[in-house]
Amino acid sequence: MRSSRLPRSLVALAAAVALAVGVGVAPASAHPPRPGHGDKVPVATGYGGAVATVDADATRVGIDVLRQGGNAVDAAVAAAATLGVTEPFSSGIGGGGFFVYYDAASGQVHTIDGRETAPMAMTSDAFVEDGVPIPFADAVTSGLSVGVPGTPRTWATALEQWGSLDLRRALRGATEVARRGFVVDQTFADQTTANAARFAAFRSSSDLFLRRGAAPEVGSVFRNRDLAKTYDLLARRGVDALYTGRLAEEIVRTVQDPPVRRHSPLVVRPGLLELGDLASYEAPLRAPTTVSYRGLDVYGMAPPSSGGSTVGEALNILEASLPEDADPTQTLHHYLEASALAFADRNRYVGDPAFVDVPLEQLLSDGFAKERACLIDPEAALPKPVAPGVPDGVYDAECPIASTGTEGSDGQSTTHLTTADRWGNVVSYTLTIESLGGNGIVVPGRGFLLNNELTDFNFTDTQGGVDPNLPGPGKRPRSSMAPTIILEDGRPFLALGSPGGSTIITTVLQVLVNRLELEMELPDAVAAARASQRNTVAVQAEPAFDRAALQALGHTFTDTPEIGAVTGIEFQDDGSLLAVAEPVRRGGGSAAVVHGR
Ligand code: GLU
Repeated sequence: MRSSRLPRSLVALAAAVALAVGVGVAPASAHPPRPGHGDKVPVATGYGGAVATVDADATRVGIDVLRQGGNAVDAAVAAAATLGVTEPFSSGIGGGGFFVYYDAASGQVHTIDGRETAPMAMTSDAFVEDGVPIPFADAVTSGLSVGVPGTPRTWATALEQWGSLDLRRALRGATEVARRGFVVDQTFADQTTANAARFAAFRSSSDLFLRRGAAPEVGSVFRNRDLAKTYDLLARRGVDALYTGRLAEEIVRTVQDPPVRRHSPLVVRPGLLELGDLASYEAPLRAPTTVSYRGLDVYGMAPPSSGGSTVGEALNILEASLPEDADPTQTLHHYLEASALAFADRNRYVGDPAFVDVPLEQLLSDGFAKERACLIDPEAALPKPVAPGVPDGVYDAECPIASTGTEGSDGQSTTHLTTADRWGNVVSYTLTIESLGGNGIVVPGRGFLLNNELTDFNFTDTQGGVDPNLPGPGKRPRSSMAPTIILEDGRPFLALGSPGGSTIITTVLQVLVNRLELEMELPDAVAAARASQRNTVAVQAEPAFDRAALQALGHTFTDTPEIGAVTGIEFQDDGSLLAVAEPVRRGGGSAAVVHGR
Protein backbone atom coordinates (compact mmCIF):
# COMPACT_ATOMS: atom_id res chain seq x y z
CA MET A 1 0.00 0.00 0.00
CA ARG A 2 1.34 3.40 -0.91
CA SER A 3 2.76 5.54 1.84
CA SER A 4 0.37 7.84 3.66
CA ARG A 5 -0.18 11.30 2.30
CA LEU A 6 0.32 14.67 3.93
CA PRO A 7 -2.47 15.88 6.19
CA ARG A 8 -5.07 17.82 4.25
CA SER A 9 -4.33 21.07 6.02
CA LEU A 10 -0.72 20.92 4.82
CA VAL A 11 -1.85 20.09 1.32
CA ALA A 12 -4.13 23.11 1.27
CA LEU A 13 -1.36 25.29 2.69
CA ALA A 14 1.13 24.08 0.08
CA ALA A 15 -1.33 24.82 -2.69
CA ALA A 16 -2.10 28.27 -1.33
CA VAL A 17 1.59 29.12 -1.00
CA ALA A 18 2.25 27.85 -4.49
CA LEU A 19 -0.44 30.08 -5.92
CA ALA A 20 0.56 33.07 -3.82
CA VAL A 21 4.20 32.96 -4.93
CA GLY A 22 3.16 32.17 -8.46
CA VAL A 23 4.97 28.90 -8.71
CA GLY A 24 5.38 27.93 -12.32
CA VAL A 25 3.68 30.88 -13.95
CA ALA A 26 5.67 29.99 -17.04
CA PRO A 27 3.72 27.84 -19.48
CA ALA A 28 3.92 24.09 -18.97
CA SER A 29 6.19 23.79 -21.94
CA ALA A 30 8.66 26.29 -23.29
CA HIS A 31 7.30 25.49 -26.75
CA PRO A 32 3.53 25.64 -26.84
CA PRO A 33 2.44 22.65 -28.94
CA ARG A 34 2.10 23.39 -32.63
CA PRO A 35 -0.62 21.60 -34.53
CA GLY A 36 0.35 17.97 -34.82
CA HIS A 37 1.54 15.25 -32.58
CA GLY A 38 5.22 16.11 -32.46
CA ASP A 39 5.21 18.01 -29.18
CA LYS A 40 3.78 15.37 -26.95
CA VAL A 41 4.92 15.26 -23.35
CA PRO A 42 3.56 12.28 -21.44
CA VAL A 43 4.07 13.63 -17.91
CA ALA A 44 3.49 17.12 -16.51
CA THR A 45 3.44 18.42 -12.94
CA GLY A 46 2.10 21.72 -11.71
CA TYR A 47 -0.89 23.75 -10.61
CA GLY A 48 -3.99 25.51 -11.79
CA GLY A 49 -5.51 22.60 -13.69
CA ALA A 50 -4.40 19.75 -15.93
CA VAL A 51 -5.36 17.84 -19.05
CA ALA A 52 -4.22 14.42 -20.24
CA THR A 53 -5.32 12.98 -23.59
CA VAL A 54 -3.73 10.88 -26.33
CA ASP A 55 -3.18 13.93 -28.53
CA ALA A 56 -1.21 17.19 -28.32
CA ASP A 57 -3.87 19.32 -30.04
CA ALA A 58 -6.65 18.07 -27.80
CA THR A 59 -4.57 18.65 -24.69
CA ARG A 60 -3.60 22.14 -25.85
CA VAL A 61 -7.22 23.09 -26.57
CA GLY A 62 -8.25 21.79 -23.14
CA ILE A 63 -5.48 23.73 -21.41
CA ASP A 64 -6.42 26.90 -23.34
CA VAL A 65 -9.95 26.60 -22.00
CA LEU A 66 -8.64 26.25 -18.43
CA ARG A 67 -6.30 29.23 -18.89
CA GLN A 68 -9.21 31.35 -20.08
CA GLY A 69 -11.12 30.55 -16.91
CA GLY A 70 -13.09 27.51 -18.03
CA ASN A 71 -13.58 24.59 -15.67
CA ALA A 72 -12.75 20.88 -15.95
CA VAL A 73 -16.05 20.12 -17.69
CA ASP A 74 -15.55 22.84 -20.30
CA ALA A 75 -12.00 21.59 -20.89
CA ALA A 76 -13.18 17.97 -21.20
CA VAL A 77 -15.79 18.84 -23.83
CA ALA A 78 -13.33 21.07 -25.72
CA ALA A 79 -10.66 18.35 -25.68
CA ALA A 80 -13.15 15.63 -26.66
CA ALA A 81 -14.37 17.72 -29.58
CA THR A 82 -10.76 18.17 -30.70
CA LEU A 83 -10.18 14.42 -30.48
CA GLY A 84 -13.14 14.12 -32.86
CA VAL A 85 -10.94 15.98 -35.36
CA THR A 86 -7.48 14.56 -34.70
CA GLU A 87 -8.48 11.06 -33.54
CA PRO A 88 -11.52 10.56 -35.77
CA PHE A 89 -11.07 6.77 -35.90
CA SER A 90 -11.45 6.45 -32.11
CA SER A 91 -14.13 8.96 -31.18
CA GLY A 92 -16.40 11.68 -32.44
CA ILE A 93 -19.97 12.94 -32.62
CA GLY A 94 -21.02 9.72 -34.38
CA GLY A 95 -20.27 7.71 -31.22
CA GLY A 96 -20.90 7.51 -27.49
CA GLY A 97 -19.18 7.36 -24.14
CA PHE A 98 -19.31 7.71 -20.37
CA PHE A 99 -18.53 10.91 -18.47
CA VAL A 100 -17.60 10.81 -14.77
CA TYR A 101 -17.39 14.10 -12.88
CA TYR A 102 -16.26 15.04 -9.39
CA ASP A 103 -17.85 18.29 -8.28
CA ALA A 104 -15.59 20.04 -5.78
CA ALA A 105 -18.27 22.34 -4.40
CA SER A 106 -20.57 19.50 -3.34
CA GLY A 107 -18.01 16.71 -3.00
CA GLN A 108 -20.31 14.54 -5.16
CA VAL A 109 -19.44 12.28 -8.09
CA HIS A 110 -21.89 12.34 -11.01
CA THR A 111 -21.94 10.40 -14.26
CA ILE A 112 -23.53 10.77 -17.67
CA ASP A 113 -24.47 7.67 -19.66
CA GLY A 114 -23.89 8.69 -23.27
CA ARG A 115 -24.06 5.15 -24.60
CA GLU A 116 -25.48 4.54 -28.05
CA THR A 117 -28.90 2.90 -28.18
CA ALA A 118 -30.29 0.28 -30.52
CA PRO A 119 -33.14 1.32 -32.81
CA MET A 120 -36.65 0.46 -31.64
CA ALA A 121 -36.89 -1.95 -34.56
CA MET A 122 -33.98 -4.07 -33.29
CA THR A 123 -34.84 -7.52 -31.95
CA SER A 124 -32.70 -10.05 -30.11
CA ASP A 125 -31.92 -11.96 -33.32
CA ALA A 126 -30.91 -8.87 -35.32
CA PHE A 127 -27.40 -10.24 -35.97
CA VAL A 128 -28.57 -13.75 -36.90
CA GLU A 129 -29.37 -14.85 -40.44
CA ASP A 130 -30.76 -18.30 -41.26
CA GLY A 131 -30.07 -19.38 -37.71
CA VAL A 132 -26.40 -18.40 -37.89
CA PRO A 133 -24.75 -15.25 -36.49
CA ILE A 134 -23.48 -13.02 -39.28
CA PRO A 135 -19.68 -12.74 -39.55
CA PHE A 136 -18.41 -10.21 -37.03
CA ALA A 137 -16.49 -8.26 -39.69
CA ASP A 138 -19.68 -7.92 -41.76
CA ALA A 139 -21.53 -6.54 -38.76
CA VAL A 140 -18.74 -4.03 -38.08
CA THR A 141 -18.94 -2.42 -41.52
CA SER A 142 -22.69 -2.12 -41.79
CA GLY A 143 -25.66 0.09 -41.09
CA LEU A 144 -26.98 -2.60 -38.76
CA SER A 145 -24.35 -1.93 -36.09
CA VAL A 146 -25.05 1.81 -35.80
CA GLY A 147 -26.59 2.93 -32.53
CA VAL A 148 -27.99 6.40 -31.89
CA PRO A 149 -24.91 8.56 -31.15
CA GLY A 150 -24.69 9.68 -27.54
CA THR A 151 -21.66 11.97 -27.62
CA PRO A 152 -23.35 15.23 -28.71
CA ARG A 153 -26.02 14.85 -26.01
CA THR A 154 -23.30 14.02 -23.46
CA TRP A 155 -21.46 17.26 -24.22
CA ALA A 156 -24.62 19.34 -24.03
CA THR A 157 -25.70 17.70 -20.77
CA ALA A 158 -22.28 18.08 -19.15
CA LEU A 159 -22.08 21.77 -20.07
CA GLU A 160 -25.65 22.47 -18.96
CA GLN A 161 -25.20 20.68 -15.65
CA TRP A 162 -21.72 21.72 -14.58
CA GLY A 163 -19.98 23.73 -17.31
CA SER A 164 -19.32 27.44 -17.41
CA LEU A 165 -19.10 27.74 -21.20
CA ASP A 166 -21.87 27.22 -23.72
CA LEU A 167 -21.44 24.69 -26.52
CA ARG A 168 -20.51 27.39 -28.99
CA ARG A 169 -17.48 28.40 -26.96
CA ALA A 170 -16.58 24.88 -25.97
CA LEU A 171 -16.41 23.85 -29.65
CA ARG A 172 -14.37 26.84 -30.78
CA GLY A 173 -10.89 25.37 -30.43
CA ALA A 174 -11.84 22.07 -32.04
CA THR A 175 -13.52 23.85 -34.95
CA GLU A 176 -10.36 25.83 -35.50
CA VAL A 177 -8.25 22.67 -35.61
CA ALA A 178 -10.70 21.10 -38.07
CA ARG A 179 -10.61 24.16 -40.31
CA ARG A 180 -6.89 24.98 -40.17
CA GLY A 181 -5.78 21.40 -40.05
CA PHE A 182 -3.27 19.40 -38.06
CA VAL A 183 -0.07 17.63 -38.97
CA VAL A 184 -0.53 13.93 -39.75
CA ASP A 185 1.58 11.70 -37.52
CA GLN A 186 2.48 8.03 -37.84
CA THR A 187 -0.43 6.86 -35.67
CA PHE A 188 -2.99 8.72 -37.78
CA ALA A 189 -1.41 7.40 -40.98
CA ASP A 190 -1.29 3.82 -39.64
CA GLN A 191 -4.90 3.95 -38.49
CA THR A 192 -5.98 5.25 -41.88
CA THR A 193 -4.04 2.47 -43.61
CA ALA A 194 -5.70 -0.11 -41.37
CA ASN A 195 -9.06 1.19 -42.63
CA ALA A 196 -8.12 1.96 -46.23
CA ALA A 197 -9.81 -1.08 -47.81
CA ARG A 198 -13.19 -0.43 -46.25
CA PHE A 199 -13.00 3.36 -46.54
CA ALA A 200 -12.46 2.75 -50.25
CA ALA A 201 -15.90 1.12 -50.37
CA PHE A 202 -17.62 4.41 -49.49
CA ARG A 203 -17.14 7.59 -51.50
CA SER A 204 -17.79 9.78 -48.45
CA SER A 205 -15.09 8.00 -46.42
CA SER A 206 -12.48 7.79 -49.13
CA ASP A 207 -13.01 11.44 -50.15
CA LEU A 208 -12.32 12.54 -46.59
CA PHE A 209 -9.59 10.17 -45.42
CA LEU A 210 -7.75 8.77 -48.46
CA ARG A 211 -5.35 10.38 -50.90
CA ARG A 212 -5.37 8.37 -54.12
CA GLY A 213 -6.52 5.33 -52.20
CA ALA A 214 -3.87 5.57 -49.47
CA ALA A 215 -3.34 7.29 -46.13
CA PRO A 216 -2.24 10.93 -46.16
CA GLU A 217 1.51 11.31 -45.77
CA VAL A 218 3.07 11.71 -42.37
CA GLY A 219 3.92 15.40 -41.97
CA SER A 220 1.18 16.61 -44.32
CA VAL A 221 -1.62 18.85 -43.05
CA PHE A 222 -5.04 17.24 -42.68
CA ARG A 223 -8.10 19.47 -42.76
CA ASN A 224 -11.71 18.50 -42.15
CA ARG A 225 -13.80 21.46 -43.30
CA ASP A 226 -16.97 19.38 -43.35
CA LEU A 227 -16.56 18.63 -39.66
CA ALA A 228 -15.80 22.31 -38.97
CA LYS A 229 -19.13 23.14 -40.62
CA THR A 230 -20.93 20.45 -38.62
CA TYR A 231 -19.43 21.81 -35.38
CA ASP A 232 -20.54 25.31 -36.49
CA LEU A 233 -24.05 23.95 -36.95
CA LEU A 234 -24.07 22.43 -33.45
CA ALA A 235 -22.59 25.66 -32.05
CA ARG A 236 -25.39 27.72 -33.61
CA ARG A 237 -28.35 25.43 -33.15
CA GLY A 238 -27.35 23.16 -30.26
CA VAL A 239 -27.05 19.39 -30.43
CA ASP A 240 -30.73 19.06 -31.34
CA ALA A 241 -29.49 19.84 -34.83
CA LEU A 242 -28.04 16.32 -34.89
CA TYR A 243 -30.99 14.53 -33.32
CA THR A 244 -33.69 16.20 -35.44
CA GLY A 245 -33.80 18.01 -38.76
CA ARG A 246 -31.62 17.68 -41.83
CA LEU A 247 -28.53 16.18 -40.24
CA ALA A 248 -30.68 13.56 -38.51
CA GLU A 249 -32.27 12.72 -41.86
CA GLU A 250 -28.85 12.35 -43.44
CA ILE A 251 -27.66 10.04 -40.64
CA VAL A 252 -30.76 7.86 -41.05
CA ARG A 253 -30.31 7.75 -44.82
CA THR A 254 -26.64 6.77 -44.44
CA VAL A 255 -27.57 3.94 -42.07
CA GLN A 256 -30.57 2.64 -44.01
CA ASP A 257 -28.92 2.97 -47.40
CA PRO A 258 -25.13 2.94 -46.88
CA PRO A 259 -23.37 4.91 -49.64
CA VAL A 260 -21.37 1.91 -50.83
CA ARG A 261 -19.69 2.15 -54.24
CA ARG A 262 -21.36 0.09 -56.92
CA HIS A 263 -18.52 -2.33 -57.60
CA SER A 264 -17.34 -2.72 -54.03
CA PRO A 265 -16.77 -6.33 -52.99
CA LEU A 266 -18.05 -5.55 -49.48
CA VAL A 267 -21.44 -6.81 -48.34
CA VAL A 268 -22.83 -3.83 -46.41
CA ARG A 269 -26.05 -4.61 -44.59
CA PRO A 270 -28.43 -1.71 -44.09
CA GLY A 271 -29.48 -0.67 -40.59
CA LEU A 272 -32.72 -0.13 -38.75
CA LEU A 273 -32.25 3.39 -37.41
CA GLU A 274 -35.19 5.75 -37.83
CA LEU A 275 -35.74 9.45 -37.16
CA GLY A 276 -37.76 8.66 -34.04
CA ASP A 277 -34.79 6.78 -32.56
CA LEU A 278 -32.61 9.87 -32.88
CA ALA A 279 -35.29 12.29 -31.69
CA SER A 280 -35.95 10.32 -28.50
CA TYR A 281 -32.31 9.82 -27.48
CA GLU A 282 -31.39 10.69 -23.91
CA ALA A 283 -28.07 10.73 -22.04
CA PRO A 284 -29.22 10.11 -18.48
CA LEU A 285 -27.36 11.02 -15.30
CA ARG A 286 -26.69 7.83 -13.35
CA ALA A 287 -25.47 7.19 -9.83
CA PRO A 288 -21.82 6.10 -9.98
CA THR A 289 -20.67 2.70 -8.76
CA THR A 290 -18.64 2.94 -5.60
CA VAL A 291 -16.45 0.61 -3.58
CA SER A 292 -14.09 1.26 -0.74
CA TYR A 293 -10.59 -0.07 -1.33
CA ARG A 294 -7.95 0.14 1.38
CA GLY A 295 -9.54 3.31 2.72
CA LEU A 296 -10.02 4.97 -0.69
CA ASP A 297 -13.40 5.50 -2.36
CA VAL A 298 -13.38 4.28 -5.96
CA TYR A 299 -16.10 5.71 -8.22
CA GLY A 300 -16.91 4.29 -11.64
CA MET A 301 -19.50 3.92 -14.35
CA ALA A 302 -22.64 1.95 -13.63
CA PRO A 303 -24.45 -0.29 -16.16
CA PRO A 304 -24.86 -0.33 -19.08
CA SER A 305 -21.11 -0.15 -18.68
CA SER A 306 -19.55 -3.06 -16.90
CA GLY A 307 -16.52 -0.88 -16.15
CA GLY A 308 -17.45 0.26 -12.65
CA SER A 309 -18.96 -3.02 -11.51
CA THR A 310 -16.10 -5.19 -12.78
CA VAL A 311 -13.24 -2.97 -11.60
CA GLY A 312 -15.09 -2.57 -8.29
CA GLU A 313 -15.76 -6.28 -7.80
CA ALA A 314 -12.16 -7.17 -8.66
CA LEU A 315 -10.85 -4.58 -6.17
CA ASN A 316 -13.13 -6.03 -3.49
CA ILE A 317 -11.84 -9.54 -4.24
CA LEU A 318 -8.26 -8.26 -4.06
CA GLU A 319 -8.90 -6.55 -0.77
CA ALA A 320 -10.40 -9.77 0.60
CA SER A 321 -7.58 -12.02 -0.56
CA LEU A 322 -4.32 -10.13 -1.06
CA PRO A 323 -2.11 -9.70 2.01
CA GLU A 324 -0.86 -6.11 2.26
CA ASP A 325 2.75 -7.34 2.31
CA ALA A 326 2.37 -9.60 -0.74
CA ASP A 327 5.35 -9.80 -3.08
CA PRO A 328 4.99 -8.68 -6.72
CA THR A 329 4.35 -12.22 -8.02
CA GLN A 330 1.55 -12.86 -5.52
CA THR A 331 0.15 -9.39 -6.20
CA LEU A 332 -0.02 -10.02 -9.94
CA HIS A 333 -1.32 -13.57 -9.41
CA HIS A 334 -4.19 -12.20 -7.32
CA TYR A 335 -4.78 -9.45 -9.86
CA LEU A 336 -5.19 -12.01 -12.66
CA GLU A 337 -7.45 -14.28 -10.60
CA ALA A 338 -9.64 -11.46 -9.26
CA SER A 339 -10.04 -10.18 -12.79
CA ALA A 340 -11.08 -13.59 -14.17
CA LEU A 341 -13.66 -14.05 -11.40
CA ALA A 342 -15.09 -10.57 -11.86
CA PHE A 343 -15.30 -11.11 -15.63
CA ALA A 344 -17.28 -14.33 -15.16
CA ASP A 345 -19.83 -12.33 -13.14
CA ARG A 346 -19.81 -9.45 -15.60
CA ASN A 347 -20.58 -11.77 -18.50
CA ARG A 348 -23.40 -13.45 -16.61
CA TYR A 349 -25.10 -10.49 -14.93
CA VAL A 350 -24.35 -7.11 -16.52
CA GLY A 351 -26.40 -5.51 -19.29
CA ASP A 352 -28.61 -2.50 -19.84
CA PRO A 353 -30.44 -1.99 -16.53
CA ALA A 354 -33.56 -0.88 -18.40
CA PHE A 355 -33.81 -4.45 -19.73
CA VAL A 356 -31.95 -6.62 -17.25
CA ASP A 357 -32.15 -6.86 -13.50
CA VAL A 358 -28.46 -6.28 -12.75
CA PRO A 359 -27.66 -7.30 -9.13
CA LEU A 360 -25.28 -4.36 -8.85
CA GLU A 361 -25.39 -3.94 -5.10
CA GLN A 362 -24.59 -7.60 -4.52
CA LEU A 363 -21.88 -7.69 -7.20
CA LEU A 364 -20.18 -4.86 -5.31
CA SER A 365 -20.79 -6.23 -1.82
CA ASP A 366 -17.98 -7.35 0.48
CA GLY A 367 -19.85 -10.60 1.22
CA PHE A 368 -19.93 -11.61 -2.42
CA ALA A 369 -16.29 -10.58 -2.86
CA LYS A 370 -15.27 -12.81 0.06
CA GLU A 371 -17.14 -15.74 -1.43
CA ARG A 372 -15.43 -15.21 -4.76
CA ALA A 373 -12.03 -14.56 -3.14
CA CYS A 374 -12.01 -17.91 -1.38
CA LEU A 375 -11.63 -19.56 -4.80
CA ILE A 376 -8.17 -18.05 -5.20
CA ASP A 377 -5.32 -20.42 -4.44
CA PRO A 378 -2.05 -18.58 -3.77
CA GLU A 379 -0.13 -21.61 -5.04
CA ALA A 380 -1.93 -22.30 -8.32
CA ALA A 381 -3.94 -20.53 -11.02
CA LEU A 382 -7.59 -21.54 -11.29
CA PRO A 383 -8.57 -23.51 -14.39
CA LYS A 384 -10.20 -21.04 -16.79
CA PRO A 385 -12.82 -20.14 -17.60
CA VAL A 386 -14.29 -19.93 -14.12
CA ALA A 387 -18.04 -20.05 -13.54
CA PRO A 388 -19.98 -17.02 -12.41
CA GLY A 389 -20.88 -16.78 -8.74
CA VAL A 390 -24.32 -16.33 -7.22
CA PRO A 391 -24.73 -12.76 -5.93
CA ASP A 392 -27.89 -13.55 -3.95
CA GLY A 393 -27.01 -11.99 -0.60
CA VAL A 394 -26.38 -15.38 1.03
CA TYR A 395 -22.66 -15.83 1.33
CA ASP A 396 -21.28 -18.93 2.98
CA ALA A 397 -17.86 -18.61 1.38
CA GLU A 398 -18.22 -22.00 -0.29
CA CYS A 399 -16.31 -22.23 -3.48
CA PRO A 400 -18.10 -24.06 -6.29
CA ILE A 401 -16.07 -24.62 -9.44
CA ALA A 402 -17.61 -25.09 -12.86
CA SER A 403 -16.98 -23.40 -16.16
CA THR A 404 -18.54 -21.20 -18.76
CA GLY A 405 -17.22 -17.96 -20.12
CA THR A 406 -16.61 -15.84 -23.13
CA GLU A 407 -13.68 -13.93 -24.41
CA GLY A 408 -14.38 -10.25 -24.90
CA SER A 409 -13.03 -8.04 -27.61
CA ASP A 410 -9.91 -5.94 -27.23
CA GLY A 411 -10.29 -3.34 -29.93
CA GLN A 412 -7.80 -0.58 -30.71
CA SER A 413 -10.40 2.17 -30.86
CA THR A 414 -11.76 4.50 -28.20
CA THR A 415 -10.02 7.22 -26.23
CA HIS A 416 -9.83 8.40 -22.63
CA LEU A 417 -9.21 11.91 -21.37
CA THR A 418 -8.82 13.31 -17.88
CA THR A 419 -9.12 16.96 -16.81
CA ALA A 420 -8.91 18.90 -13.57
CA ASP A 421 -9.32 22.60 -12.84
CA ARG A 422 -8.07 25.10 -10.28
CA TRP A 423 -11.25 24.70 -8.22
CA GLY A 424 -10.65 20.98 -7.75
CA ASN A 425 -13.28 19.66 -10.18
CA VAL A 426 -12.27 16.53 -12.07
CA VAL A 427 -13.49 14.79 -15.23
CA SER A 428 -12.70 11.24 -16.29
CA TYR A 429 -14.24 10.64 -19.71
CA THR A 430 -14.02 7.65 -22.07
CA LEU A 431 -15.54 7.95 -25.54
CA THR A 432 -15.62 5.77 -28.60
CA ILE A 433 -17.05 4.86 -31.97
CA GLU A 434 -16.32 1.17 -31.07
CA SER A 435 -14.03 -0.31 -33.77
CA LEU A 436 -11.03 1.62 -35.04
CA GLY A 437 -12.79 3.68 -37.72
CA GLY A 438 -16.25 2.85 -36.36
CA ASN A 439 -18.43 1.34 -39.07
CA GLY A 440 -16.20 2.88 -41.75
CA ILE A 441 -18.93 5.14 -43.11
CA VAL A 442 -18.62 8.94 -43.08
CA VAL A 443 -21.98 10.71 -43.19
CA PRO A 444 -21.63 12.35 -46.64
CA GLY A 445 -20.55 15.98 -46.42
CA ARG A 446 -20.55 16.00 -42.61
CA GLY A 447 -16.98 15.00 -41.77
CA PHE A 448 -17.56 12.29 -39.16
CA LEU A 449 -17.74 8.50 -39.00
CA LEU A 450 -20.64 6.54 -37.59
CA ASN A 451 -20.23 4.07 -34.75
CA ASN A 452 -20.60 0.29 -34.88
CA GLU A 453 -21.36 0.14 -31.16
CA LEU A 454 -24.17 -2.39 -31.51
CA THR A 455 -21.53 -5.06 -32.19
CA ASP A 456 -20.94 -4.85 -28.42
CA PHE A 457 -24.13 -6.87 -28.02
CA ASN A 458 -23.72 -10.64 -28.00
CA PHE A 459 -25.06 -11.86 -31.32
CA THR A 460 -26.33 -15.11 -29.76
CA ASP A 461 -26.88 -16.32 -26.22
CA THR A 462 -23.57 -16.94 -24.39
CA GLN A 463 -25.10 -17.69 -20.98
CA GLY A 464 -27.43 -20.65 -21.33
CA GLY A 465 -30.64 -18.72 -21.83
CA VAL A 466 -29.89 -15.84 -19.46
CA ASP A 467 -27.58 -13.66 -21.52
CA PRO A 468 -27.96 -10.07 -20.26
CA ASN A 469 -26.40 -8.58 -23.39
CA LEU A 470 -28.51 -9.67 -26.35
CA PRO A 471 -29.83 -6.93 -28.65
CA GLY A 472 -33.21 -5.37 -27.90
CA PRO A 473 -35.34 -2.41 -29.03
CA GLY A 474 -33.93 0.81 -27.56
CA LYS A 475 -31.38 -1.21 -25.58
CA ARG A 476 -27.83 -0.07 -24.82
CA PRO A 477 -25.09 -2.63 -25.47
CA ARG A 478 -22.92 -3.52 -22.49
CA SER A 479 -19.71 -1.54 -22.41
CA SER A 480 -16.36 -2.07 -20.73
CA MET A 481 -15.51 1.59 -20.50
CA ALA A 482 -14.25 2.38 -17.03
CA PRO A 483 -13.67 6.09 -16.42
CA THR A 484 -12.68 6.14 -12.75
CA ILE A 485 -12.27 8.76 -10.04
CA ILE A 486 -10.79 7.86 -6.64
CA LEU A 487 -11.31 10.00 -3.56
CA GLU A 488 -9.41 9.95 -0.30
CA ASP A 489 -11.22 11.52 2.63
CA GLY A 490 -13.69 12.99 0.16
CA ARG A 491 -11.05 14.77 -1.96
CA PRO A 492 -9.69 13.64 -5.34
CA PHE A 493 -6.65 11.38 -5.24
CA LEU A 494 -6.56 9.85 -8.73
CA ALA A 495 -8.61 9.91 -11.94
CA LEU A 496 -7.92 7.62 -14.87
CA GLY A 497 -9.25 5.49 -17.70
CA SER A 498 -8.28 3.76 -20.92
CA PRO A 499 -9.51 2.49 -24.28
CA GLY A 500 -9.14 -1.15 -25.30
CA GLY A 501 -12.53 -2.91 -25.41
CA SER A 502 -12.85 -5.36 -22.55
CA THR A 503 -9.13 -4.88 -21.73
CA ILE A 504 -10.16 -1.41 -20.49
CA ILE A 505 -11.25 -3.03 -17.25
CA THR A 506 -8.02 -4.94 -16.69
CA THR A 507 -5.92 -1.94 -17.71
CA VAL A 508 -7.57 0.33 -15.15
CA LEU A 509 -7.30 -2.43 -12.58
CA GLN A 510 -3.64 -3.13 -13.30
CA VAL A 511 -2.65 0.53 -13.12
CA LEU A 512 -4.39 0.73 -9.73
CA VAL A 513 -2.62 -2.43 -8.56
CA ASN A 514 0.70 -1.03 -9.77
CA ARG A 515 0.09 2.29 -8.06
CA LEU A 516 -1.55 1.17 -4.83
CA GLU A 517 -0.07 -2.28 -4.17
CA LEU A 518 3.27 -2.24 -5.94
CA GLU A 519 3.78 1.41 -4.94
CA MET A 520 4.91 2.60 -8.35
CA GLU A 521 4.75 6.29 -9.18
CA LEU A 522 1.84 6.98 -11.53
CA PRO A 523 3.98 7.42 -14.70
CA ASP A 524 5.63 4.04 -14.01
CA ALA A 525 2.31 2.43 -13.13
CA VAL A 526 1.02 3.54 -16.54
CA ALA A 527 4.15 2.64 -18.51
CA ALA A 528 4.60 -0.85 -16.98
CA ALA A 529 3.98 -3.85 -19.26
CA ARG A 530 0.41 -5.14 -19.08
CA ALA A 531 -1.35 -8.47 -18.81
CA SER A 532 -5.09 -9.05 -19.14
CA GLN A 533 -7.04 -12.03 -17.74
CA ARG A 534 -10.68 -11.86 -18.81
CA ASN A 535 -11.73 -15.36 -17.80
CA THR A 536 -10.04 -17.07 -20.70
CA VAL A 537 -7.69 -20.05 -20.74
CA ALA A 538 -4.64 -17.92 -21.47
CA VAL A 539 -3.71 -14.48 -20.16
CA GLN A 540 -3.06 -11.91 -22.89
CA ALA A 541 0.17 -10.09 -22.20
CA GLU A 542 2.43 -7.55 -23.81
CA PRO A 543 5.79 -9.04 -24.83
CA ALA A 544 7.65 -7.16 -22.09
CA PHE A 545 5.41 -8.50 -19.31
CA ASP A 546 7.52 -10.64 -16.99
CA ARG A 547 5.73 -13.96 -16.80
CA ALA A 548 8.09 -16.68 -15.57
CA ALA A 549 7.03 -16.61 -11.91
CA LEU A 550 3.36 -16.56 -12.89
CA GLN A 551 3.83 -19.44 -15.31
CA ALA A 552 5.21 -21.42 -12.39
CA LEU A 553 1.82 -20.91 -10.70
CA GLY A 554 0.03 -22.31 -13.76
CA HIS A 555 -0.89 -19.16 -15.70
CA THR A 556 -0.50 -19.50 -19.46
CA PHE A 557 0.08 -16.55 -21.76
CA THR A 558 -0.46 -15.37 -25.30
CA ASP A 559 1.36 -12.33 -26.68
CA THR A 560 -0.44 -9.23 -27.81
CA PRO A 561 1.50 -6.18 -28.98
CA GLU A 562 -0.22 -3.53 -26.90
CA ILE A 563 -2.96 -3.23 -24.27
CA GLY A 564 -4.79 0.03 -23.54
CA ALA A 565 -3.77 3.70 -23.66
CA VAL A 566 -4.19 5.31 -20.24
CA THR A 567 -4.47 8.92 -19.26
CA GLY A 568 -4.80 10.05 -15.67
CA ILE A 569 -4.25 12.79 -13.13
CA GLU A 570 -2.99 12.31 -9.59
CA PHE A 571 -3.55 14.89 -6.88
CA GLN A 572 -0.30 14.89 -4.97
CA ASP A 573 0.39 15.41 -1.31
CA ASP A 574 2.00 18.81 -1.90
CA GLY A 575 -1.11 20.11 -3.66
CA SER A 576 0.30 19.77 -7.16
CA LEU A 577 -1.24 17.88 -10.05
CA LEU A 578 0.57 15.05 -11.83
CA ALA A 579 -0.89 14.60 -15.32
CA VAL A 580 0.11 11.39 -17.06
CA ALA A 581 -0.33 9.82 -20.49
CA GLU A 582 1.34 6.90 -22.24
CA PRO A 583 5.02 7.33 -23.07
CA VAL A 584 4.89 4.81 -25.95
CA ARG A 585 1.56 3.01 -26.55
CA ARG A 586 -0.47 4.36 -29.48
CA GLY A 587 2.37 6.69 -30.32
CA GLY A 588 2.41 8.27 -26.86
CA GLY A 589 -0.04 10.68 -25.25
CA SER A 590 0.02 14.29 -24.14
CA ALA A 591 -0.17 15.63 -20.59
CA ALA A 592 -0.08 19.29 -19.59
CA VAL A 593 -0.77 21.58 -16.65
CA VAL A 594 -1.83 25.22 -16.55
CA HIS A 595 1.15 26.35 -14.45
CA GLY A 596 4.15 24.07 -14.83
CA ARG A 597 6.54 23.38 -12.04
N1 GLU B 1 -17.06 -0.48 -27.52
C1 GLU B 1 -16.17 -0.79 -26.46
C2 GLU B 1 -16.86 -0.68 -25.13
O1 GLU B 1 -17.74 0.10 -24.98
C3 GLU B 1 -14.96 0.07 -26.48
C4 GLU B 1 -14.14 -0.22 -27.69
C5 GLU B 1 -12.66 -0.12 -27.50
O2 GLU B 1 -12.20 0.35 -26.47
O3 GLU B 1 -11.95 -0.54 -28.41
O4 GLU B 1 -16.52 -1.37 -24.23
